[in-house]
Amino acid sequence: MESRRVAVFEICVGILLIVIGFILWRWSKQILWILIYPPPLAKPLIESLPFLFWGLGALLVVDGVRRKIQDTRMQMHAKQSRLRNSGRGEVAMRKDKLLLFGKFYDVEVYKSEKYAILLDDRKIRIRMPGSGKPRSREYEYLRKWIRGKLLKMLTNFLREYERVMKAPIGKFYIKNQKTRWASYSQKRNIHFNIKLAALPKRIIEYIVIHELAHATQPNHNRKFWYIVEKFCPDYKKRKQELKEYSLVIQKSKIWQKMLNMYT
Ligand SMILES: [Zn+2]
Repeated sequence: MESRRVAVFEICVGILLIVIGFILWRWSKQILWILIYPPPLAKPLIESLPFLFWGLGALLVVDGVRRKIQDTRMQMHAKQSRLRNSGRGEVAMRKDKLLLFGKFYDVEVYKSEKYAILLDDRKIRIRMPGSGKPRSREYEYLRKWIRGKLLKMLTNFLREYERVMKAPIGKFYIKNQKTRWASYSQKRNIHFNIKLAALPKRIIEYIVIHELAHATQPNHNRKFWYIVEKFCPDYKKRKQELKEYSLVIQKSKIWQKMLNMYT
């Protein structure tokens, strides 16, 4: 049984014992009457029983409450440290912000003559004709803009690592894949997921290295991870972070809207 349920159980049993103790105390005389020939010890025993129940009940209630407080504290602690460790303490509260290259941005849409997207430290300002609230057209425009940024970053990483890893590639594509972050085909083409644009640059770098390592090792065997580690020594940490980001993207309203429109 989990600790929280134990606590509730203890408190309930404790209260029950206290109630039984009260009943015994109130009716101890009547109980004594039921016994026609009470043995000599019966009277002090029945008279002391309520105190025994109260004592036990109180102990259980106190312990249950203590357990409950401890449990709540531990949960809060775990949640805080999880958020702190991931370095993205705002994740849970910022579902409606856009996660882009590992940073959260407010998205604001303005009516304007021309199309434009401006990015500063905290905000992405979308300027487009006839806009108010973000609607499908805004998401489409934003998605194209994001795709362009990702394309540029991937091109740079691929150019760099293709050379240093001596891993030639064919073409590469950016797509909306349901499950995979990227894949390396037999024809040496790489498919990247558009969702990569939500990740910090260093994790995108790990994914590029990972895919290029497939040029010589199709499977995730020891040799494969050896190659990855050679070019990305802390790949385990980046891999772990990648998992955490998947969840954040799943929870992000803007990302989900952009992905749903992607055909
Ligand atoms: Zn792989």
